Amino acid sequence: MKKIVCAMMSAAIFGSCGNPAEKKEAVAQDSDFQWVVDRFADVEVLRYRVNDFESLSPKQKELIYYLSQASIVGRDILFDQNNRWNLAIRRTLESIYENFDGDKNSEEYKQLETYMKRVWFSSGIHHHYSTDKFQPAFSEVFFKEQVMKLDDSKLPLQTKQTKEEFLNLIVPVMFDPTVYAKRVNQAAGDDIVQTSAANFYRDVTQAEVEAFYEKMKNPKDQRPVSHGLNSRVIKRNGKVTEQVWKVDGLYSDALAQVVYWLEKAQTVAETEEQKAVINKLIEFNKTGDLKAFDEYAILWVYDLNSKIDFVNGFTETYGDPLGMKATWEAMVNFKNEEATKRTEIISANAQWFENHSPVDKEFKKETVKGVSAKVITAAMLGGDCYPASPLGINLPNSNWIRAEYGSKSVTIDNISEAYDNAAQGNGFGEEFVWSDTERELLKNYGLYADNMHTDLHECLGHGSGKLLPGVDPDALKAYGSPLEEARADLFALYYIADPKLVELGIMPNEEAYKAEYYKYMMNGLMTQLTRIEPGKNIEQAHMRNRQTITRWVLEKGAPQGIVELKVRDGKTYVVINDYTQLRGLFAELLNEVQRIKSTGDFEAGKKLIEGYGVKVDPKIHEEVLARYKSLNIAPYKGFVNPVYEPITDENGNIVDVKINYNENYMDQMMRYSKEYSLLPTYNN
Ligand code: ZN
Repeated sequence: MKKIVCAMMSAAIFGSCGNPAEKKEAVAQDSDFQWVVDRFADVEVLRYRVNDFESLSPKQKELIYYLSQASIVGRDILFDQNNRWNLAIRRTLESIYENFDGDKNSEEYKQLETYMKRVWFSSGIHHHYSTDKFQPAFSEVFFKEQVMKLDDSKLPLQTKQTKEEFLNLIVPVMFDPTVYAKRVNQAAGDDIVQTSAANFYRDVTQAEVEAFYEKMKNPKDQRPVSHGLNSRVIKRNGKVTEQVWKVDGLYSDALAQVVYWLEKAQTVAETEEQKAVINKLIEFNKTGDLKAFDEYAILWVYDLNSKIDFVNGFTETYGDPLGMKATWEAMVNFKNEEATKRTEIISANAQWFENHSPVDKEFKKETVKGVSAKVITAAMLGGDCYPASPLGINLPNSNWIRAEYGSKSVTIDNISEAYDNAAQGNGFGEEFVWSDTERELLKNYGLYADNMHTDLHECLGHGSGKLLPGVDPDALKAYGSPLEEARADLFALYYIADPKLVELGIMPNEEAYKAEYYKYMMNGLMTQLTRIEPGKNIEQAHMRNRQTITRWVLEKGAPQGIVELKVRDGKTYVVINDYTQLRGLFAELLNEVQRIKSTGDFEAGKKLIEGYGVKVDPKIHEEVLARYKSLNIAPYKGFVNPVYEPITDENGNIVDVKINYNENYMDQMMRYSKEYSLLPTYNN
């Protein structure tokens, strides 16, 4: 259960749910808020609104300000983690952009601008989602000319390096598709350490890394630290060793700034518990001690009474082919009291859900512990949460901490709100939905049911089930991540249709879940393929999970007419004929996936994911891409942050913080690069 941030695509494609009058009012209010900020390549950049920020106390605003600064100062870390040349390339592009005196309407220049926007968006030269390297659409000649025009002082040259030498190094990294082709390569049979472009390992083989960490593990340790979480592995004088990310270690300059802002934050902490959390995180940043990290995680799980909360540090391991090394991420948020009531009801009934799940008794948890859940308003995104943001987070990732202390699970409401508002009337529903019946369902319940699915996935799904004694939590290896997501999704799919939710007053009626079933099937079988390039396999864990689930139930359900793909006028559609029986299929698969997890059945897990989740049906893929292209919708979204401006009194004390939404994407990225360029270009 290592990988828990769930970044579902366009959560809300179909507009709002609920009371039409309420919706009208919301639209009127929103009319002067500019949701869409920029558009390039396959990306649309949106703006999120920090609802109710004004109603916070001055002290709470001050805390948010400090934490938001701590979120931006780590920005360079992720660039370097993603590839060792990313900072050099970013800084070179920015320098060309700033000093350019040629024709800004030329195609080459425009393409350079687009490429730079993509590098910012992905924190490097690899696509943020597919992790494939993307190619510049300007020429090598143009790029070299621009670099040669610049003064040496304006380029990130290494000591005694000439511009020619610099270009010889950097040009193939940018332009040669075979060099650093993939950031995270998980292809079975490859040395996934040596063939991945991420900067977590240098001059070591997969076998060497595995042996290195195997030696650290003590199978008898019931409370192991997350070995390897915060370090790069290198070979020095023939010996494999770690470079730890900490103050006075690797990434020191950025982490010292994180500490600086955290130290300010702890002076205005809301509670003693929160103060302890911040102080422990400061200690971890200073020492790099993974025991301190676990202590921090436990304090963080226990801090439930603070309105403001945050994530800041090395958290998720999607970026490491071996799933050990965490990328740096940050998010500052505060509780949305009204919406949180819904998730509290789910959490309060966690044991009921566990007891009644269609899973074999031996795989169920006798007591489901500490499933806390809340709906939050994001106030600042940083590192691996920026610009592309998750919609829900469930942390910490350490198995034993989750088992003994529970976890915190959040749904980020104002990010969904932004997706929803930006997607009004984009033609998606008309193109891909079978009939008005389904469109009506989606219109009425789509967004609500989708949020409910996320809540169930995060609050219950990831926390359910148990490993049998003696089963290695890493037994499923690379398949562990998609299988964990599949379990969480299936748990949510099973329960969203349960009359219990209507009884608890958190689903409007016994029809509403159908909106989620339809959307889920359509997404898994068809529309999520818009994110895959022709000829490519599915790599990303959540996407593998969704295709595995939907293709599996289609295979089982189509012969009985439960769910099918129908072609009308040359276009393929998902048609669900029997929602109740479809739920039965989800239950059957949930039971099997839980069995695989609980027993560590690697072969069965591999067969399931490889058999259903990896390969793409080329015919459907081609059709979906063509239909999607005609709609001209960007398949990926990301966000600009608001700008916080502290207001100080004559003594320099912060008395208030103003928020504004005026900054556009280019300006924000350039400003961040100027004000928060904290790391050296080359971090060795
Ligand atoms: Zn998840």
